[in-house]
Amino acid sequence: MFIDSHIYLTYSSFEGTVPCIVGSKEMERIKYMDRLQLIKKFRDNDILLCIEPGIDLESNYKILELANQYPDSLFPAIGVHPIRAPQTKWSKRKELLSLADNPSVIAIGELGLDYHYKRLKQHRIRQKMWFAWQLKLAEKSHLPMILHIRLADTDTIKILRHHKNKLNGGVCHCFNKGSDIAKIYRL
Ligand SMILES: [Zn+2]
Repeated sequence: MFIDSHIYLTYSSFEGTVPCIVGSKEMERIKYMDRLQLIKKFRDNDILLCIEPGIDLESNYKILELANQYPDSLFPAIGVHPIRAPQTKWSKRKELLSLADNPSVIAIGELGLDYHYKRLKQHRIRQKMWFAWQLKLAEKSHLPMILHIRLADTDTIKILRHHKNKLNGGVCHCFNKGSDIAKIYRL
């Protein structure tokens, strides 16, 4: 059995039908499938569960709605992506809290820091604020996390240290350092 820990089925590109490669390696062909057909296809290939993380406030609502339609296949994570953090109003925390309270939510994310794009110093401060706040949310809710970390290891480790022994694990992606740094992440 496999679990896809990072899917974006709520994206508008999945409205209607999407082209998918089906068939054997020798006889591949394109078939157009809708979301339900795709989920069935996942199941046929032993991918029994998919987790979709939140990116911004709006996407969190969409994920909860879609997870409600496919409760055995799609599981929601609630969060604000670091790239979307600067544009997300700080006052929206309350809304996020109540979304995370939904019993179908299985993780917090994606949360983290992403310094790939050259941005204003102010953007990084906003990323850090949202990251730290969501870590607290993960801590309080005892849920695992979906971390998105890119080129921001020093700041990430500094912030994670405040939560040592209080977090409930999870996955980290976009990470581009070696095993020595990865070990420090395992708090
Ligand atoms: Zn990501």
